[in-house]
Amino acid sequence: MKEITAKEFDIEVLAAGRVVLDFYSTECPPCEALASKFEELSKLYGEDIKFLKIYRQQNRELAEKLGVKSSPTLLFFANGKEVGDRLSGGIKRSDIIRNLDSMLPSARVKEIKGGIKSSVSEYDVIILGAGPGGLTAGLYLCQSKINTVLIDIALPGGQVSTTHEVSNYPGFIEPQAGYMLGHNMSEQTKLCGTVYKVAVDVTKVDLEKKEIVIDEYETVKAKKIVIATGTTPNRTGAIGEKELKGKGISYCATCDAKYFDNKEVVVIGGGNSAVEESDYISRFASKITVVHQFDKLTANKKAQEKLLSNPKISVVFNSEPRAFVKEGDKMVTEIENVISKERTKIVSDGVFVFIGMKPNIELFRDKLQLDQWGYIKADENMQTSVPDIYAVGDVISKKYRQITTAVADGTIAAMAIAKELS
Ligand SMILES: Cc1cc2nc3c(=O)[nH]c(=O)nc-3n(C[C@H](O)[C@H](O)[C@H](O)COP(=O)(O)OP(=O)(O)OC[C@H]3O[C@@H](n4cnc5c(N)ncnc54)[C@H](O)[C@@H]3O)c2cc1C
Repeated sequence: MKEITAKEFDIEVLAAGRVVLDFYSTECPPCEALASKFEELSKLYGEDIKFLKIYRQQNRELAEKLGVKSSPTLLFFANGKEVGDRLSGGIKRSDIIRNLDSMLPSARVKEIKGGIKSSVSEYDVIILGAGPGGLTAGLYLCQSKINTVLIDIALPGGQVSTTHEVSNYPGFIEPQAGYMLGHNMSEQTKLCGTVYKVAVDVTKVDLEKKEIVIDEYETVKAKKIVIATGTTPNRTGAIGEKELKGKGISYCATCDAKYFDNKEVVVIGGGNSAVEESDYISRFASKITVVHQFDKLTANKKAQEKLLSNPKISVVFNSEPRAFVKEGDKMVTEIENVISKERTKIVSDGVFVFIGMKPNIELFRDKLQLDQWGYIKADENMQTSVPDIYAVGDVISKKYRQITTAVADGTIAAMAIAKELS
């Protein structure tokens, strides 16, 4: 692996055969998460593909010329031409491998794969999920000098990182940017010494043996596991939703509302998330139509009053979406009145869906006792039905899902575990 500057780009990249180039920055957690994967893959593929790094801050002009807008960004080149996908953000090892493999003959790929050695590492505790619940458990365990590893399929921070503003986390007078709150929680836990394995593929979870396989070849073992995998937004199930996800349909106002300046949007839902996020979207959009399945909103009273007094927002009650269609730049949402069965169409520039969440338990669904909605049952120590397996945060069966409640669960699990391990 070699570090280059913009001056060397033509010779080292354009005049070379196969190259992968990492535009990195300092003080960049996703760059740190990528660094070890990049180094390890350079050892496997280095004979066939050149692994290069370039410091984006000092080579800004080249980055701009190549359209590199975030760090890290990985670019793949073959014979002077960019090939494959550009990867950025929380880059997974499997995505890098897919691109590297596509640059090589399949026989060579087989040979390289044959040389991959599986590895095993052991800790006292594995925490699966680095949102507020997992990060807090990690902090407490680390401060109790318990050897802990945090594993996440994405970058640390969890849902907080995609929330535009958090105004109800104690200790801050002003509302905090969700991204910063998530980042600070993560840095505090990392600084303590907790090991991070993030932006990885979690391939297998064996709760009985307390073994987790990540990125197919790396087995992580522990005495105890804390599940802190949170939830994922529910889909409406309407025709066209899957195909238009990210192409007109969004599940994250913080991420996408800014692209709807002076535009019209439809919001599906009527609970706290839908109502609060509609209010946020109204900072940008000129008109918002909220489509709600019941005859009353189910958000808290204060949020409802704010929404109903917002002149940009109107609500269509007793209605559910049946189909989403893209027509040119516009999104057409076909809704059905659940009482009269009458169908109407709303034309807008984009759609946001906020209709609740489902727990992330696919890899261990059959092994644990769940409540009727599929959330993990945990006792007052956050212990699940399987010995030595704990669960915290939004993924457990409980009434209120907030950052503070996830943080509290993480604290309790860590203290209970620390007591047992001592
Ligand atoms: C739009 C929105 C706004 C919100 N606003 C607020 C607010 O203002 N105040 C407030 O208190 N709460 C708010 N919440 C709720 C709050 O974000 C959650 O209650 C909190 O993040 C839950 O923390 P958690 O650690 O349980 O899960 P999460 O934050 O969901 O973190 C779970 C982590 O697990 C990872 N993961 C998932 N599956 C796996 C797997 N198989 N293996 C490994 N890792 C996995 C995920 O990548 C993620 O990082 C909001 C939520 C949303 C969606």
